Order: sequence, then C-alpha cells, then structure tokens
Amino acid sequence: MTHAILQASYILATALFIFALHWMNDPKTARRGVYAGVAGMTVAVLATWFQPFIIHHVWIIIAIAAGFAVGVPLSMVPLTAVPQRTALSHAFGGLAAGVVGTAEYYLWYHEGPENFTTFRMVALILEVLLGFLTLTGSLLAAGKLQEVKWIPQRPVTYPGQNFVNLTLLVIALGLGGALVLHPTAAWAPQLFPVIVVLALLFGVLLIIPIGGADMPTVIAILNAYAGLAAVAMGFVLDNKLLITAGALDGSSGLILAIIMCKAMNRSFGNVLFGAFGQVQQLKAGGELKVYKAETPEGAAQVMEQASLVVIVPGYGMAVSQAQHKVRELYDQLKKRGITVKFAIHPVAGRMPGHMNVLLAEADIPYTDLIEMDDINSDMPQCDVALVVGANDVVNPAARYDKTSPIYGMPIIAADKARTTFAIKRSKNPGFAGIDNELYFAPHTWMLFGDAKTVVSELVKQLSGGSGMH
Ligand code: NAP
Repeated sequence: MTHAILQASYILATALFIFALHWMNDPKTARRGVYAGVAGMTVAVLATWFQPFIIHHVWIIIAIAAGFAVGVPLSMVPLTAVPQRTALSHAFGGLAAGVVGTAEYYLWYHEGPENFTTFRMVALILEVLLGFLTLTGSLLAAGKLQEVKWIPQRPVTYPGQNFVNLTLLVIALGLGGALVLHPTAAWAPQLFPVIVVLALLFGVLLIIPIGGADMPTVIAILNAYAGLAAVAMGFVLDNKLLITAGALDGSSGLILAIIMCKAMNRSFGNVLFGAFGQVQQLKAGGELKVYKAETPEGAAQVMEQASLVVIVPGYGMAVSQAQHKVRELYDQLKKRGITVKFAIHPVAGRMPGHMNVLLAEADIPYTDLIEMDDINSDMPQCDVALVVGANDVVNPAARYDKTSPIYGMPIIAADKARTTFAIKRSKNPGFAGIDNELYFAPHTWMLFGDAKTVVSELVKQLSGGSGMH
C-alpha cells in the first residue's frame, strides 16, 4: 500500500469517527452512528494490515482474536451494567497505551540513542503515565460500580490524602523528567518500571476517595485520560489516526464529564476530591416521619381524572425493566385524552441518556420526552406526577438543604405537582444515600413494590376501567 493510500484511509477513518459522534447525538440517527464507528475502525485496521513495514501479521490476528474474545461477552451485559462495562473498555485502552509505550521504550533503548528525541520521550512518558493510571483507575471504578464485595463502595479517605496523591504525582513526573533528559543512561531501564508502578498506584489512589454516586462522572474523566494516552501514543508511533481518534475520544469524555458535573451542580474538583457520598445523612427528625401508601387501584382512579400526567423515570425503572409496561400505561392514559409527558433528568439512572435509551426502546415518541428545564415550569399545572424508581433527582432537599450532599443539584419539581405517586420497593434511600422528604409530603402517596409489577397493576386497573381486556 502506498503512503498516499494509507494517509487517505486514515482520513476516511477519521471522518467516519467524526460522523459517528455526530450521528450519536440524536436517537433517530444513533444506529447509523454506531455503524459509522465500526466502519471507521475496520478501515483503520485494514489500512494498518496493508502497511508495507508490518511484517508480523500474525500478531494483528492474535490481537483481533483477543479483542473479539473480550468484546463479544462485554457486548452482552445488561443496560444497567453499561457504566462498568464502559470503565472496562477504558481500562483496556489504558493498558494498550501503557504496554505499547513500554515496548517502544525498550525497543528504542536497544536500537540506539538516535531514536530518542526530547519530544518523543515526553510523549512516551505521558503515554505510559496516563495509560497505566487509566488502567487501575478504571478497573477500580468498574469494581465499585459492579459492587464487587472486597472493593469498598463508600469513599476511602484519610488525613492528608490530597497531599499524598499530589506528592506521588510529582515524584512520578520528576522521574519521568529524568528519563526524558537521560533516556539512554545505564540506570534508565531500571527506572522505567518504577514509573509504571507509580502510575498504577496513582490510578488506585485517585479513585478510592470517590464514592459510587460520582463514578459515572469519573468514568467520563477516565475516558478523557484514555483518549489523551492514545494521543500521546500517536505522537510516539507517528500515527496521525491515533492522534485524531484519541483527541476525539479524549474531548468527548471531557465534554461528557462537564455536562454531568453541570447537571449535578458540582465542580470537577468537588467530584475528584470531594469524597461525595461519604456521610450517610439520614436525618433523625424529632417526630417519626410517615409514608402514606396507596393501592394501584386508588392511584389509577386519580390518574383517570387528570388532564396532565408527568412520568418521572429513574434508576428503578431501569432495574426492573419497566419501560415496556410504562409504555402500556402511556397508551392507556393517552386513550383517555390525558396529556402524558416524561420528565427527563440529565443524570437520572446510572449513565447519561439512560432514560432516553430505555424509553426509546419502548417506542415512546421522542417529542413526549421533555428535558428537566422545560418540564419544570409545567409542574404546578401537573395533576399527577408519577415517579417510577427515581429518588435523588426528585429530592427537594437539593434546593435548600446546604448540608445535603446533593445540595445545588437541579431537580425535577415533582413536589410541585397537585398529586404525586412514587413507585419504589422499600424505604431505602437512593444512590446518594439520603432520605427524600418528597415521600413524606402531604400530597405524596407511595406505591410500594417493584416498578414493573406496580405499573402492570396500574395498566390492569386502567384497562379494566375502560372496559378492555
Ligand atoms: P436513585 O437516586 O439511585 O434512586 C433509585 C430508586 O429506585 C431507589 O431509591 C430505589 O429504591 C428504587 N428502585 C430500585 N430498584 C427498583 C425496582 N426494581 N422497582 C422500583 N424501584 C426501584 O436514582 P435516580 O433518581 O435516577 O438518580 C440517579 C443518581 O445517580 C443520582 O444521585 C445521580 O447524581 C447519580 N449519577 C447518575 C449519573 C448518570 O449519568 N445518570 C452520573 C453520575 C451520578 P428501593 O430500593 O426502595 O426500591
């Protein structure tokens, strides 16, 4: 393959990656976006395969086989496990960058000093640091999200933690600097593994103080690190496709992390160093607060009289896979001429767009999915708000309770509706580990039970009521 064809293939692959990201912005074109991404990667692999200087094609075959062996089972995880699956992908990206950087260093070392320019060495050290810290950080994040028993879910903190982390980083960067200046020194090959170990350790220390509720945001940040590691690898290998693909990956991770931080009204610093979710803030009030429970029958009767029903889905809808039953409920209400809207909180569930994906799967029209900022002004006119397995995203304490870990997070104003029904299985708190006073409010009634079962009951009541079977 000539150089010109190779470069043209890389430009084509880059263009496909950019279109993939663009199309994935909208549920209507998301599938096309996935196909474009697959096509881009196929072009990239084929172009690499036909490069004249590649001699050991067997390694490419082994790498592809290994990729399939890991990727196929990973593609089968349930939607609720996608955040930890994504973290594992970043871990593999980090591992690849770290291992390639390490191999390149020793290869150059043995080939001779002419290989080492300052620029290449800076890129290589960054690649190795970012790659290996992304590896352990992402593995730990995936373990926390998967609730692996021996990994603590709550933030692990100790006095002087930020100082220790910073010192470790400075030492790793300092040793990296020494290698940049003296890459061919006799001690350099022994120093290299020390830097690798420090990067691996730093990845762990960076993640342990962060609580489970912040993990999705952290995963987006780790995505950015993996992308940056790929950019550095591109400079090391002088591969333009890796540079552009890594930049796209890194910047999309960063943008996603910023969007998530904004939706929770948190700063990056607070997510990374705030130890969110550490204190269990269950407030023991003077008098015992009581929940009022309602039956699906009673709730269905109230809903029948409504002219506007707003459904607020949350993580519980994903857990119970209630979206198809919710669709049936939507149909029943619409049949009665009731306006039904879905209030979509940007961080409802466990990953960005979680609710949109589930509701799209149940064929609910996109036009009835209303973003938080747009639906909130309608909430005082809403006759019934039906909360389906949401908790933190409807917690009014976020508005005024400065001691609450979710203080300042914008919420869906379910408490402003005339009547609120809330479906959940128990009196347990949501992900941030705090009580929700919405459930004790005078106009709120609880529908205790699994979301799918309760919504099925509501559908049964409504279809019975309209004379259908
Ligand atoms: P949540 O606060 O985790 O609450 C979910 C509720 O669903 C729980 O209280 C649980 O109560 C209930 N539930 C669980 N399984 C259920 C089932 N089978 N049937 C019925 N109910 C069930 O969820 P959320 O309101 O969606 O809020 C999301 C949280 O994740 C926020 O704290 C947000 O900051 C955090 N987060 C999300 C993202 C993201 O990208 N989406 C990113 C960062 C952080 P029971 O156990 O009593 O049933």
